[in-house]
Amino acid sequence: MNDIDILKLYFEGDTLSEKLAEYEKGTPAAYLIGEWEFFGDTYKLNECCLIPRCDTERVVETVISRLKEGQRLADICAGSGCIGISAIKRVKNATCLSVEISAKALEAARENASLNGVVDRISFINADAFKNPLGDERLDVIVSNPPYITTEAMESLDEYVKKEPSIALHGGVDGMDFYRHFASEYKENLTENGVMIFEIGYDQEDKIKDVAQKNGFKCTVKKDYSGNPRVALFEKI
Ligand code: GLN
Repeated sequence: MNDIDILKLYFEGDTLSEKLAEYEKGTPAAYLIGEWEFFGDTYKLNECCLIPRCDTERVVETVISRLKEGQRLADICAGSGCIGISAIKRVKNATCLSVEISAKALEAARENASLNGVVDRISFINADAFKNPLGDERLDVIVSNPPYITTEAMESLDEYVKKEPSIALHGGVDGMDFYRHFASEYKENLTENGVMIFEIGYDQEDKIKDVAQKNGFKCTVKKDYSGNPRVALFEKI
């Protein structure tokens, strides 16, 4: 179903005409309806949240394959919360710590935790991922879909993507700032067999393998539904 068909499902009459006009001017359908589907569930969204992409479901699949019953997950740069929530929803008694810099995005994440029935297994920290707020927490899986778009590519984003928060997209000059930071500063927060799982850009396979190697991780990259590299699994060597 395309975006216009989705808007027609949610609105009618004058409201539909207004929403279609806003859509034509470049506002993403997900923001106009205030929710979006991800991993078979519905997530509330506001304009401070990145809109969940279906390729990110591959990240969730990877988390679910590694996170065992009762284990502890951290979702860094959590946005709407969709990755951590959809993962722990499917792993018995698993818990999640979601870190997000935008208080407004966290409002949506809290609501999404309630709507998805995991509110008693998740906690939220409103903090900057560059000031590691995990303290002496030990996690079995640390997952992140951080901002990873390069400075140059930020200029040529699709007009709808440009309406999404740039702080959720821009990953520094080479797009790798967050991964370098996580690999060096969050390693101590992993349990003995703990792993990190990242979403990466389609052209970042070589760069992410280099970050892994420099920080003592073995890196395995998986592809998305279009056959592009999309998920990086970091295991301690
Ligand atoms: N996948 C998103 C895009 O291509 C980017 C998401 C991100 O930077 N984490 O628009």
